[in-house]
Amino acid sequence: MHIEDPKVVAALSKFNVELRRASSFAELTSLAIGGTTDLLRIKNHEFIPGLLSLLDSHGVPHRFLGGGSNLLVGDGELPWVVLQLASPNRDVVLEGNFAQVDAVADLGRTVTYCAKHDLGGMEGLIGVPGTVGGALRMNAGAYGMQIGSYVREVKLYRAATRQIEILRGEQISFEYRHTSFAPDDMMLAVRLELPSKAYREILQGIRICNEKRRSSQPLGQKSAGCIFKNPPGASAGRMIDELGLKGLSVGDARVSDRHANFFVNAGRASANDMLALIADVRERVRSAFSVELEHEVVIWNA
Ligand SMILES: Cc1cc2nc3c(=O)[nH]c(=O)nc-3n(C[C@H](O)[C@H](O)[C@H](O)COP(=O)(O)OP(=O)(O)OC[C@H]3O[C@@H](n4cnc5c(N)ncnc54)[C@H](O)[C@@H]3O)c2cc1C
Repeated sequence: MHIEDPKVVAALSKFNVELRRASSFAELTSLAIGGTTDLLRIKNHEFIPGLLSLLDSHGVPHRFLGGGSNLLVGDGELPWVVLQLASPNRDVVLEGNFAQVDAVADLGRTVTYCAKHDLGGMEGLIGVPGTVGGALRMNAGAYGMQIGSYVREVKLYRAATRQIEILRGEQISFEYRHTSFAPDDMMLAVRLELPSKAYREILQGIRICNEKRRSSQPLGQKSAGCIFKNPPGASAGRMIDELGLKGLSVGDARVSDRHANFFVNAGRASANDMLALIADVRERVRSAFSVELEHEVVIWNA
């Protein structure tokens, strides 16, 4: 989508928003797939309510982008603009066992920064790409832990009230790759409470998690992590593997040879290639196991 209205363009600079024309999701996502749209980089949280009411009143639909590591975006010119937070100077501030973290902070860097200050708990998240805001929205987790367990407060723009608010941890439900935030809520910052642990001990946990990832995931390839959620008590990857689908491909979209729940862009896969592969694998699992796999990857195809 190209914002045409000069009044909207002029108002964007008033809200300290940088307009990046025709940004390509092939460059913005870890899958390196997707079409183009105008990208709005938000430099001040305080202007977000004004910005969103400007976009709504001019009929400009929008989506929120974090690090783009869990997204499959459609091809061609997209019918909405995308909003992304710009990085502040300092994105993690520690105070005792609490870490105040900006939503745009890189997740892995946040885990290691906290570790260096003897704050642990999040070792499993090392190697999960993307931002802290994306991790909050998805309740990212691995190896038996999830970020939601450490959340004490979230500062967010709430679509329901059109205001910036602070929610306490107990007001939010964090489930397996699902949270109670509304689709149009925008995460701005989080206060985490982390257990004290010696850096050396945390580092050992981090090394174990890194090794597990290295030995089981196609880390050098373009992917969005797991495509499907694990159904209760089962593993989506194992089911796909049992059907002998590793290596199955549509165009350059391919089921990884290393991890059957990772689908990779092995060259110049289009969104349609990847969607067709996902639909095919889902159908084969449904007919073999009578299980409807749910997407873990977020699909923006309209
Ligand atoms: C190699 C690899 C390994 C991975 N391993 C794991 C893993 O072990 N565990 C796991 O849970 N995930 C894993 N993932 C998936 C992904 O990294 C996580 O889901 C990550 O937390 C997404 O963060 P992001 O900033 O990239 O979000 P994006 O991909 O940009 O967005 C994902 C969703 O979050 C929303 N969102 C992003 N930022 C905000 C915000 N500030 N406010 C509101 N909504 C927002 C978007 O609108 C979208 O709906 C992996 C991905 C890759 C590529």
